[in-house]
Order: sequence, then structure tokens, then C-alpha cells
Amino acid sequence: MPECPKCHQKVQFTDITCKYCRTELKAFGHPGIPLHRAEGETLLCDTCTYDRDDTCTYPQRPYAKTCTMYQNYLDVDNNDLDPPVYKTPGGIKGLQIWCQRNPGLITLLALIGISFIIVLLR
Ligand code: SF4
Ligand SMILES: [Zn+2]
Repeated sequence: MPECPKCHQKVQFTDITCKYCRTELKAFGHPGIPLHRAEGETLLCDTCTYDRDDTCTYPQRPYAKTCTMYQNYLDVDNNDLDPPVYKTPGGIKGLQIWCQRNPGLITLLALIGISFIIVLLR
């Protein structure tokens, strides 16, 4: 587990700031390189230059919520890049992506299922 460079307390890989001393944290494993983070339900790839010019080979594309390589396409000169059209993958891959994006719903469904089992066993 990474530690805060200032107070040396353990922090999570995904922490934006140290919860002990409030130091702004960079991506673990990439010292000095900011880790860009999507806000809310948005995805970074939707506005990324490397998605629009189709040069990104990161496995998290096109569903990246955090990324060290992100560059907003509005910040570069070539603003006439059209967003690529994605087909949502089906089968196991599609199910995996859906599960990654809906952990709260899966937890809720699991709790409902467990509740049903408990009621049925009484
Ligand atoms: S560089 Fe990151 S944000 Fe940009 S398209 Fe690739 S995975 Fe998405
Ligand atoms: Zn700290």
C-alpha cells in the first residue's frame, strides 16, 4: 500500500488527498505525474485526445475513470477530431464491464438475494 510522501501514513491507491495531512497525492507508481480522475459518472476517454485520434492502447479505454495519460481534446490545437463510435461488447466481456461500472447495484442485488434465502429458510 502506498504511503503519503509528507506524513508517511498509509493511503489508498485511489486517494486524491492524504486523509491525515491533506497533501494532494499523485498517482502511485508515477511520482510527479498527475493522475487524472473523472468526475461523477463521466468517463475520461469521452473527452481524451488519444481516444479521438485512436492512438490509445490502454486496456481501460474507453471506460477509464482514472488515467495518467489523459489529455482533454479541447486543450490541443486540433479540435476537429470526431469522437469514435463504440459498439458495447457483448458476452462475458460486456458483463465484466457492466459489473465494473455497477458495483453498487450488484451489492444491492446480492443483499436482496441473501434476504430472500434467509426468509425461505425460516
Ligand atoms: S489515454 Fe486514458 S483517458 Fe485517454 S483514451 Fe486512453 S485510457 Fe482513455
Ligand atoms: Zn499525509
